[in-house]
Amino acid sequence: MTANLNRRNFIRNSAISGIGLTLGAAHTSFASGPTPVKPVVLGGEKAHTGVFPSWPVFDQKEEKALNDVLQSKNWCRLGSTKVDNFEAQYKKLNGAKHCLATSSGTSSLSTMLGALDVGPGDEVVIPVYTFIATYNVVTLNYALPIFVDSDIESFQIDANKIEPAITKQTKVIMPVHIGGSPADLDKILSIGEKTKLPIIEDACQAHLAEWKGKKVGNFGLGGAFSFQASKNLNSGEGGAIITNDDSFAQTCYNFHNQGQGGRVTGFNPGSGTRGTNLRLTEFQGNLLVAQMTRVVEQTNRRYENARYLSKLLNDIPGITPAKLYEGTTLSAYHLYMFRYDKSFFDGLSRSKFIEALKQEGIPCSKGYGMINKDAYVTGLVKNKHYLKIYGEKTMNDWLERNQCPQNDKLTGEESLWFFQYMLLGSKTDMEQIAEAIRKIQKYAPEIDKSL
Ligand SMILES: *Cc1c(COP(=O)(O)O)cnc(C)c1O
Repeated sequence: MTANLNRRNFIRNSAISGIGLTLGAAHTSFASGPTPVKPVVLGGEKAHTGVFPSWPVFDQKEEKALNDVLQSKNWCRLGSTKVDNFEAQYKKLNGAKHCLATSSGTSSLSTMLGALDVGPGDEVVIPVYTFIATYNVVTLNYALPIFVDSDIESFQIDANKIEPAITKQTKVIMPVHIGGSPADLDKILSIGEKTKLPIIEDACQAHLAEWKGKKVGNFGLGGAFSFQASKNLNSGEGGAIITNDDSFAQTCYNFHNQGQGGRVTGFNPGSGTRGTNLRLTEFQGNLLVAQMTRVVEQTNRRYENARYLSKLLNDIPGITPAKLYEGTTLSAYHLYMFRYDKSFFDGLSRSKFIEALKQEGIPCSKGYGMINKDAYVTGLVKNKHYLKIYGEKTMNDWLERNQCPQNDKLTGEESLWFFQYMLLGSKTDMEQIAEAIRKIQKYAPEIDKSL
């Protein structure tokens, strides 16, 4: 099976690189020569001649996985085996003692905060540079999310700013491995030890990423993963928790299963005093088992392509790939994050740079903004429940505490992303990304006038 898969991938890749290499070589020689190919914006040819791989990836294996569940008539995990099987495989893949599948990454985080009984009056420390779900799971419990500014070089939570954000009310530290690259875990873990606060890792983008050879999600009390359609492991919607703590695993199970400890329906009280239904379906569990046969190869490919792309982009003045911390032995590269300095592009704005790249056949996004300044978030100071729980002064102080100047600079002017599926392409795809950027740099003033 593995040999077959590898062979198929090999044939596919060589086919892609075969075409790409010829064109890529031609472009490269032009780009470094005296008369570079013009950008598309100015009437030239696309730098990206192929198409990036489409996502999701599946074949008859996934079809069979879904049909098997359909025919079995066992569609719910209670009293059945497919989700159990997925959990067994996912914990093994991650080297964790326990795995609990849930209905989403958000559900995984909610389950862990529920198991820790986080509630009104509590504070949870989170990075400002993250998907809004990290914030939402805190406010769903009427707790206060406390933003920590970004490390502009890595895009990750600035671990040096976590301790000053901690107060007597802090109940959890919730770092995110944003883009699939590990946050600075050594520093974060030492803060956890010093303060005795539990660490919950939001690893929703970081499937299989490693810190010093160990998979992320294993470092805190628990780690959350998402299997939402855009993520590196996909069942449409879905999530999982991994943990190495027996009693936390049981409390999480109970919380996600209406407070019940049993594996079948019927009230069978477990630990904790609150719960809900956040179970994964058998369809999703079995689909994930099929998708997992591809995940290691896909992860390695993204990592190799991303490292190659970084090597190419590091040679372009004004383009700076996000730094990986030294403990990183594998990044999941859910996002390829990098910074753009327009002063090296004759002042060409970031949005015009994105548009010019798009016309070269290369999707690019400016990514997350300043969620701490968004009306959705600042409006919390007027929420009647928050006013009742915390009072007006605390809520106004909270707004003050939310300042994140480094993140303002990062997201306001510099941050850019490429997407995980682009990194499943060939080396030629990576070369053509770099070539497109060099072209845009060379013709920046003309592009600025034309766009
Ligand atoms: C996707 C994501 C989530 C939420 O996962 P869902 O499965 O979409 O609920 C949480 N945190 C981060 C950082 C994510 O990227």
